[in-house]
Amino acid sequence: MRDAVLIEEMTWPEVRDAIAGGKRRVIVMLGAMEQHGPHLPIGVDTYLGYATGARLARRLGDALVAPVVSLGYSRGHLPMAGTVSIEEPVLEAVIADVCRSLARHGFKEIILLCSHGGNYRALQHALPGVRRELAGVRVSAIADFDEWLEHTKQFAAREGLDMARLGVHAAQGETSMMLAHRPDLVQMDKACEGFLGDASIRWRSKVPPPMDEMSPTGILGDARNASAALGEKIFADRIERIARMIEAGELAG
Ligand SMILES: [Zn+2]
Repeated sequence: MRDAVLIEEMTWPEVRDAIAGGKRRVIVMLGAMEQHGPHLPIGVDTYLGYATGARLARRLGDALVAPVVSLGYSRGHLPMAGTVSIEEPVLEAVIADVCRSLARHGFKEIILLCSHGGNYRALQHALPGVRRELAGVRVSAIADFDEWLEHTKQFAAREGLDMARLGVHAAQGETSMMLAHRPDLVQMDKACEGFLGDASIRWRSKVPPPMDEMSPTGILGDARNASAALGEKIFADRIERIARMIEAGELAG
């Protein structure tokens, strides 16, 4: 059989047989469709959701990747053209329905991960109900943005990078990951410095301030000095950390 991990590229008998053959885990990535500066496409968080899901599935060896949830909570980015946002209660309902669907097919563990910071709160809200309803399936999740933030700060310190420039949105970090995954969609000649100050109000508040008021370019950090090599390093570091937490059962709540 083909060595596919993305469910949407497989036929239903292939998915059925893969589960029966030992693919006991399924990864659900929560992406977004929102502006990512003048140099990256609207779909970054969804493209990186596919990349992260596929790499994690191959690292684990016993996992498939569910269709990436491509719309997320991006209200703060709506002033910028192309952004499409769904409200948090809608996202919570989508998360629950995706888990209900996957639980029917025989997976033993559903792993929920965000590739967009705005989705964490909806995931937090959805989790208790999903875990109650699907008691026979382990539901693992990283539902805390601080986990990503702290891990990324440690990575920056180890690599001698400036966290303010590595950034939290459309900056050196995400641009590097896109250069590793989809270089055809990156316009490095338009990459520039964005907002370098404290952006934490964006993830500390339920309704973040309009992005264009904080950063007219839409970048939080500095998108210059991105490279595919750095992107590969970020992927490798992140995937290994998440895989170990999954294998240790630390994400099961
Ligand atoms: Zn992003």
